[in-house]
Amino acid sequence: MSISAQALLYVKGISPYVPGKPITELAREMGLPVERIVKLASNENPLGMSPKARAAVTAALDGLERYPDQFELIRALAERLGVGQNQVVLGNGSNDVLDLAARVFLSPGRSAVFSQHAFAVYPLATLSTGAECVVAPAKHYGHDLTAMRAAIRPDTRLVWIANPNNPTGNFLPYPDVRAFLESVPGDVAVVLDEAYNDYLPPAERVDSVAWLKDFPNLIITRTFSKIHGLAGLRVGFAVASAELADLLNRVRQPFNLNNLALVAARAALDDHLFVAESYQLNRRGMEQIVAGLKRLGLEHIPSHGNFVTFAVSDGAAVNLKLLKQGVIVRPIGGYGLPNHLRVTIGLETENARFLEALETSL
Ligand SMILES: *Cc1c(COP(=O)(O)O)cnc(C)c1O
Repeated sequence: MSISAQALLYVKGISPYVPGKPITELAREMGLPVERIVKLASNENPLGMSPKARAAVTAALDGLERYPDQFELIRALAERLGVGQNQVVLGNGSNDVLDLAARVFLSPGRSAVFSQHAFAVYPLATLSTGAECVVAPAKHYGHDLTAMRAAIRPDTRLVWIANPNNPTGNFLPYPDVRAFLESVPGDVAVVLDEAYNDYLPPAERVDSVAWLKDFPNLIITRTFSKIHGLAGLRVGFAVASAELADLLNRVRQPFNLNNLALVAARAALDDHLFVAESYQLNRRGMEQIVAGLKRLGLEHIPSHGNFVTFAVSDGAAVNLKLLKQGVIVRPIGGYGLPNHLRVTIGLETENARFLEALETSL
């Protein structure tokens, strides 16, 4: 009898997450020098990390013998968001918080609802608890909230929403999200994943955190991985009612964030200049890439994030040709979009190299 025969069936049924190809891996595979490779595959910040965060990390190298203290980051986030400290739950990346939500509400015999083409971590977090995934059909590649409401079953305990969504970049207007929350039964938790919130133009943004007082079943998640440039340190968080935050904290590992991550995130929160520069670079880069895609006659899905998804005739073939030229983008066949590729907005020079390589790869 093999050991894998003893594993839970629902664990064996999980398809592993496929991350963006690391630069070092492509260098080994293609025999290319690392400096020749452009990685636009994981929605990372092309400007690097916040300089304030970098300084904080360096200073915190003294003190790594101590267990971490989450107090200061929680205090600062609560103040920034206008909520109580007992409403903020930190995660080792927001993926960690998504997992906490799944563990609080899901188990075999329960289900979670999410949209077709939604973020890959929702099925992973759902299936790892033994719960069933109920996938609502997408509309124009984005979440169809009417279909999602209709998909909620008596055994549904969690709904996952990404706004903006990854990998499609679609954005749901806030009034629609609010109407959806009003329509969802109060005993179903809703995770509103706002990883790309900081890339929305201020005029499009609404203070969704203020909704928490009306919806005790709402969990809003955000991350330091994207505009703050701390993907490698792993910091995200949830904001929810005190009641829900307490539940999430019960399944959280006590020291789930390390000392360096905590001080980096605390410093990044105050680096308004870096956030503004990252936002502006993304705006310009989005225009550059969208104009380039149009020039090549390629359709794209209008995106509200730091990436854009576009259609080609054969996703796998184009991806391979790009890789051979040292350009890493993200194939998204695993999201049911085999003939689309997702490219992260990079520096102007990186975007230009991507467009050049794409032109010869079609
Ligand atoms: C990138 C991303 C996250 C953030 O993940 P981290 O674990 O915080 O790095 C969360 N949700 C979506 C939809 C994302 O694309």
